[in-house]
Amino acid sequence: MSALLLDGTKIAAEIKTEVGAEAKALINAGVRPGLAAVLVGNDPASEVYVRSKVRACEALGFFSEHIVRPDTLTTADVLALVEELNARDDVDGILVQLPLPKAVDARTVLLSIDPQKDVDGLHPVSVGNLSANHPTLVACTPAGVMEILRRSNIPVAGKEAVVVGRSDIVGKPMAMLLLHQNATVTICHSRTRNLPEITSKADIIVAAIGRPGFIRAEHIGEGSTVIDVGINNVSDPAAARELFGEDEIGKRLATIEKRGFTLVGDVNPKEAIEKAANFTPVPGGIGLLTVAMLMKNTIAAAKIRRKLD
Ligand code: NDP
Repeated sequence: MSALLLDGTKIAAEIKTEVGAEAKALINAGVRPGLAAVLVGNDPASEVYVRSKVRACEALGFFSEHIVRPDTLTTADVLALVEELNARDDVDGILVQLPLPKAVDARTVLLSIDPQKDVDGLHPVSVGNLSANHPTLVACTPAGVMEILRRSNIPVAGKEAVVVGRSDIVGKPMAMLLLHQNATVTICHSRTRNLPEITSKADIIVAAIGRPGFIRAEHIGEGSTVIDVGINNVSDPAAARELFGEDEIGKRLATIEKRGFTLVGDVNPKEAIEKAANFTPVPGGIGLLTVAMLMKNTIAAAKIRRKLD
């Protein structure tokens, strides 16, 4: 079998087009959706993520503010900043990029965000609503996975879905979303015994682990759908050779040569393509959906706060 590659680039562009049209209608009605992205410190990966989110806002005509503060900020400083953004009428969505510096209490900061502006879907009110299957702002990455499944016509109801990873940001909301779409859901983690035995029986595997190429042929059932949420840097050419087939390895080695690393998911792509029916590549899969869903959440937040539907 050679898996169909699910095209995150195309689906993200579709969502952005739809969101752009909604933004235009809102702007014409006098409402400009606005996102404030807060970056504390200078973690290079976070800088890249925040910049791409702000750029996406600008491309869609949103108001956006990119707030960068030094890593010397205290919890109280970040709380004061969030309070200010909670009170601002031009800000519909607040995104505090994680990880925060060690000295800042991330949980307290998260709790301080107005749930109506919680476009990352991480506030306990959002998490509670998701768990109860009430309409709410949902964490962007798992919401993006559901969009890619839906728009690729991959059935979820009645299917066996296994989520590998139980983080608050990906694994747990992912499992909830699949459950609400009537999948039979299993959540696996680092203490799971016999992981391949469990995952290989699944119709849908979502890998959100943070270990490059961790999900291999033995984990994957023939004809399954494998969604790779992972984003990891691989800089060792020998490790890259383990992951990519003839058609891809040349390009990857050239990227390592040029940039020092290549982006790799949590699934071994060469082996997934051999066994699965559908597979999301990295890059070009879920990562792009995350930003598109953030834009969608910002529109939703603008509407919720103004009681528009
Ligand atoms: P976390 O580190 O918070 O969670 C990783 C999860 O994987 C944990 O639940 C952990 O289990 C589990 N795990 C670790 N090792 C194993 C193992 N050997 N077997 C089974 N499970 C294991 O990561 P995140 O959820 O934040 O991110 C996961 C991946 O997704 C990363 O690669 C990250 O870069 C990527 N990511 C991508 C996004 C995107 O936009 N595409 C957005 C967010 C994340 P335990 O709980 O027992 O420790």
